[in-house]
Amino acid sequence: MILLYHRVADLPSDPQLLAVSPERFAQHLSILRRRANPISLAEMLQKIGQRRRIDGDVAITFDDGYADNLLHALPILKRYDIPATFFIVSGAVGGGAEFWWDEVERLILSPHDATDPRWNVCDTAPRTPRQQLYVSLCERIRPLDPPRRAAALAMLRAWTRQPAAARPTHRALSRGELRKLASSRHVAIGAHTVTHPVLAQLAPAAQYHEIVSGRLQLERIIGRPVSLFSYPYGTRDAFDRTSVACLRQTGFAAACANRPGPVSRASNRFALPRFVVRDWDAQQFERQWRRWRHTRSRA
Ligand SMILES: [Zn+2]
Repeated sequence: MILLYHRVADLPSDPQLLAVSPERFAQHLSILRRRANPISLAEMLQKIGQRRRIDGDVAITFDDGYADNLLHALPILKRYDIPATFFIVSGAVGGGAEFWWDEVERLILSPHDATDPRWNVCDTAPRTPRQQLYVSLCERIRPLDPPRRAAALAMLRAWTRQPAAARPTHRALSRGELRKLASSRHVAIGAHTVTHPVLAQLAPAAQYHEIVSGRLQLERIIGRPVSLFSYPYGTRDAFDRTSVACLRQTGFAAACANRPGPVSRASNRFALPRFVVRDWDAQQFERQWRRWRHTRSRA
């Protein structure tokens, strides 16, 4: 199994359900230590290549590159001696801006709509006008190419009279922090494009740029080769044949998608399934773990 996390943080509101609290992340790792065999994604791929058994193996991954990956997640990974792969949006590193979904939340929802801080897009339909606006803006902004997306955010900022500066709680890693994260023996760094676009919405040349430059920029910062990738959003509509061909041709070893399922020998190396982890307590995580173990491979 490959697990997908994004953030380890305590947040007042989390409409995309991206954060797991540090306390709960530690509970998850403690359970994995007892119930599973945590290994790195690279080792899992190596075992598959050697046709060795991987039942009971679990690899942890993080997408996007939030600063809390270094500040909160790494110390807990070290405590439990569990490795993880971090897929980093290269253009966000040291950029001082928030990821677009966080910025839309800051401009539209928080703190203006603090009446309903636990509301999220997964569990319930939008209840307030601001929640409705947030959902429809996210739907419209997600498929935009990078320049159009930047323009849309600039318009929103002007309209709401808010600055562009990132909240300290929502910032991405700085270059120095990424280097520090990469230097841990528990960590592998993977690529996640330059600007987090829906790759399938881009022309082939733009896809190539996002994939190849994203990797080069990371390699320049950490001084080591990067050979793993995860698709932004990772859903079936988020990448296409062009994305996969680009990854293969430019020497990537594997790529993670975002759809649930166990990894098997039959899995497509360039669309590895992952289980998304939410802010579950120990009991909920155990229950999910058992459910995942009974999920049939859909190759
Ligand atoms: Zn992402």
